[in-house]
Amino acid sequence: MKVLKFGGTSVGSATRMKEVASLICDGDQKIVVLSAMSGTTNTLVEIADYLYKKNPVSANEVINKMEQKYAAVVDELYSKDETKVEANNILKVHFDLLRKFTQNNVFLLFDEKIILAQGELMSTAMVNLYLQEIGIKSVLLPALDFMRIDKNNEPDLAYIRTNINKSLSVLPSDTEIYITQGYICRNAYNEIDNLQRGGSDYTASLIGAAVKASEIQIWTDIDGMHNNDPRFVENTKPVATLHFDEAAELAYFGAKILHPTCILPAKLENIPVRLLNTMDPQAQGTLISTKITPKKIEAVAAKDNITAIKIKSGRMLLAHGFLSKVFECFATHKTSIDMITTSEVGVSVTIDNDKHLDEIVNELKTFGTVTVEKDMVIICVVGDMDSENVGFQAKIVNALKDIPVRMISYGGSNYNVSFLVKAADKKRALESLSKELF
Ligand code: ADP
Ligand code: ASP
Ligand code: MG
Repeated sequence: MKVLKFGGTSVGSATRMKEVASLICDGDQKIVVLSAMSGTTNTLVEIADYLYKKNPVSANEVINKMEQKYAAVVDELYSKDETKVEANNILKVHFDLLRKFTQNNVFLLFDEKIILAQGELMSTAMVNLYLQEIGIKSVLLPALDFMRIDKNNEPDLAYIRTNINKSLSVLPSDTEIYITQGYICRNAYNEIDNLQRGGSDYTASLIGAAVKASEIQIWTDIDGMHNNDPRFVENTKPVATLHFDEAAELAYFGAKILHPTCILPAKLENIPVRLLNTMDPQAQGTLISTKITPKKIEAVAAKDNITAIKIKSGRMLLAHGFLSKVFECFATHKTSIDMITTSEVGVSVTIDNDKHLDEIVNELKTFGTVTVEKDMVIICVVGDMDSENVGFQAKIVNALKDIPVRMISYGGSNYNVSFLVKAADKKRALESLSKELF
C-alpha cells in the first residue's frame, strides 16, 4: 500500500481538491494524508493569538471571515444540494467549536492545540465527502485514534503501529481510499496535540513506517527537492535522487519542502519517499532512497534564527570533563545544539531555540568567557562528501570567498558541510554557492 500526502496548497481550493481526487482515484487502495487548506493553520494561530490577548471580538471576526471562505469552497466543490447541506453541517460543528472558545474567560495552551487541529479535521472531511459524492469508496481514518507523541514529544511508534492497524482492520476491506489528517495527534496525556508546523509530512512517513508502505509520496507545489532554496535563489533545479541521509540533512537545515525530522521513519523501514508536484503531476520529482550519486554535491539549504554561543576558556578546555559540563548545561535547559566547532582555547555552538538563552549563558559563565551572536544562519551544503572525495571543500569554500563566515563544520557525517553566516549575508551566500556548485 502507498501513502500519499497532499500539502496545504494542494488542497487549497475547490479546484485543487478536485485535482487531488483525480490524482488519487486509480483503483489502488491507498492512505491519503491531507494538510489543512493553505492559510488555514496561520488563521487558526491568529485566532488563538487574539484569545491569548483576551480579544474575543477580533477572534470572532477572523472566524467569521474564515467561515465565509469555507462556505464558498463548499458551494463550488459539491454538485448535489444534499451534499452541500451535509458539508455545511459538518463545518458548522468546527466553527461552533471555535466560537465557543471566544466565550471562555481563560485560554490555555491546551485550548490552542484544539483550535490548531480544526484545519486538518475540516479539509479531510471535505475531501472525503467529495470522493463519496463522485462514487469513490473513501472513508475517514481519524488520526486522533492512532497518532500519538510521548512525554518527550517524540512519536510513539509502537502505539501508532498497533493502533493504525487496529483502525484499518475495522473499516470496510473494499475501501479504495483511507483519508487521514496530517499534523494532528494526541499526546501522552491523551490531549489533542500536533507534530509542529509542517508536520503533515511527518504524519505521512510515520504512517508509511507503521503500515510498511511500498512508497511514501509527498505531493506539494513544486517539482521535488530543488538544489537551492527557490524562495531566495533564481533558476534552482529539481534534484532527481537523494540518499535518505542527504534528504534528512536538507530537511533539518531548512529545506521547507520537508518537515525537519520526517525522513527518519521512512529510512528506518527503508521505504522510498517520492516528492511530487500536484500542479505538474507528470514531472519526475525527487526520489529519496538508499541510493547515492557518488561524488555529487546535490543541494544547499539554510536554517534561520540561529544563535551562536562561544565559550572561551584556555585554562579549562583541554581538561577532561570540560565539554561534558558545557553540554550538560544545554541538556539541563532542554536546548539542542545544531553545530559545534572547537579550538584549543574555546568551543562554539549554535542553537535554534533561545528560550533558555539567559539561563544557559549565566551557567556557562562559570566555565569561561561567553559571547553570544544572534540573527545567524546555518548554510548547509549536502551531497556525497566522503573524505576520500577530494576537492569538494575547496569548491565550497571558494564559493564563499567574499562572505564573512563565523563557523565551519565538516566530519559529523559524510553528507554535509555547514557554515554559519550572518542573516544579512544569507541570500548572497546561497546565490554564490548555486553559481559555483551547480
Ligand atoms: P506543503 O504545504 O505542500 O507542505 P510547503 O510550503 O511546506 O508545502 O513546502 C513547499 C515549499 O518549500 C516550496 O513551495 C518552496 O518554496 C519551499 N522550499 C524551500 N526549499 C526548497 C527546496 N530546496 N526545494 C523545493 N522547495 C523548497
Ligand atoms: N497545516 C499544518 C501547517 O500549516 C501542517 C502542514 O501543513 O504540514 O503547519
Ligand atoms: Mg509543508
